[in-house]
Amino acid sequence: MNVMKNISDAADADGMKKIQEEAAKINKNDYQNKTVIFLADGMADEPLQELNGKTPVEAVDTPYLDSIAKNGASGTFLTLPAGFPTSSDAANMSVMGYSLAQFYPGRGPIEAESQGIDLKEDDIAWRCNIVYAEGGRNGILRDYSAGHISNDIANILIADLKKHFDSDKVTFYPGVSYRHLLVLHGKEFSSNVDYYKPDSSQDIAVKDLPYTALDDSKEAAYTVEFINDLVAKASDFLAAHPLNKDVKSPANMIWPWSPGKKPSFTAFTEKYAGKTGAVISAVDVIKGIAKCAKMDVIEVDGATGFTDTNYEGKALAALKALKDHDMVYLHVEAIDECSHLGDLKQKMLAISQFENRLVKPVMEALKGCDVTFAILPDHPVPIHERAHTRTPVPVAVCGKNIQPDSIEKYGESFAVNGSLGAMSGEEFMRLVLNLK
Ligand SMILES: [Zn+2]
Repeated sequence: MNVMKNISDAADADGMKKIQEEAAKINKNDYQNKTVIFLADGMADEPLQELNGKTPVEAVDTPYLDSIAKNGASGTFLTLPAGFPTSSDAANMSVMGYSLAQFYPGRGPIEAESQGIDLKEDDIAWRCNIVYAEGGRNGILRDYSAGHISNDIANILIADLKKHFDSDKVTFYPGVSYRHLLVLHGKEFSSNVDYYKPDSSQDIAVKDLPYTALDDSKEAAYTVEFINDLVAKASDFLAAHPLNKDVKSPANMIWPWSPGKKPSFTAFTEKYAGKTGAVISAVDVIKGIAKCAKMDVIEVDGATGFTDTNYEGKALAALKALKDHDMVYLHVEAIDECSHLGDLKQKMLAISQFENRLVKPVMEALKGCDVTFAILPDHPVPIHERAHTRTPVPVAVCGKNIQPDSIEKYGESFAVNGSLGAMSGEEFMRLVLNLK
């Protein structure tokens, strides 16, 4: 899936030069009471025998992350409370202080927001994968991505689905590769329908992965019936599509999941006493959350979501964004991807890149400015489980208003003893924004 290339924790010289030029221009007066959150997706882990009982981040040399703990305070934060998906969208919403019970809209609506789709009041947006099931829709789900299908082929398939199935009740929207959207229109539908996430359901018979109504309403029952019928017809259509002929993992099914209605977040600025926020990420779903919260999304060329990402470009964008925002949320996906691959060496390298090519240049450039720095993952991805877990993540925060504690290093086993204790809800965000 992911091609390993340009893997190095050495900084890109050109990129570094640009950061240094930007740093030289920094006027400390423009950087008062600012906040930078370093969000290392999926970094938290378990103590590993092969690392003599250390976790990956504890085993990598991370003096800048450690300096946040040493000069500030540590604690833990519960990002994935029970009853909600263990997904990055939910986790990052928690970090931003949005109660999942109150605001979690489902993956479909977040991605719709990210794509700029204006959902109507009665619309229900579903994330819609195109997948490969061996033996078709009566067979076994084999590949949630239909072989990481190319955009070109996928866009033709979705265009043809639109032609045949779009109606006043249904609209398909093309996305990227296997990731598309399906919107149902009308009061007769409900989003209260349970589903199976395709990437966690591979090698299971499709008949054992049914949609179920989550309440007794006639709308939920009708939605299940309607979706079953649409999946059957659209899948038969795809299975017979000429572009799926003689393909190893043909995109022969649609797989709608995580439905929900138009998100209605309280805007970040309104929630946090007028503070403004910018988000830098390669990942659509994180950008979608930012748009739901009406934060600014800063695009960076070459941000890939993997270890070949443009770290220096993201660092530079963060410095620039911090000039006219109170808070910059600097999200890095690569560590999560390496954790899902189960590759410890790559995970440690990705952590080292994050430290050397992002955290270090940003902290160096802002030395002497009034900036609160925070480091945390959105959730753990233990390397031996290769899946998200609900364990609270380690946090360290330093800044003018943070009372230092005795913790000297950043890591899972240190943070649990920190003075910030076990945080949840808005506690973390209010702390880092100095809104106690
Ligand atoms: Zn994540």
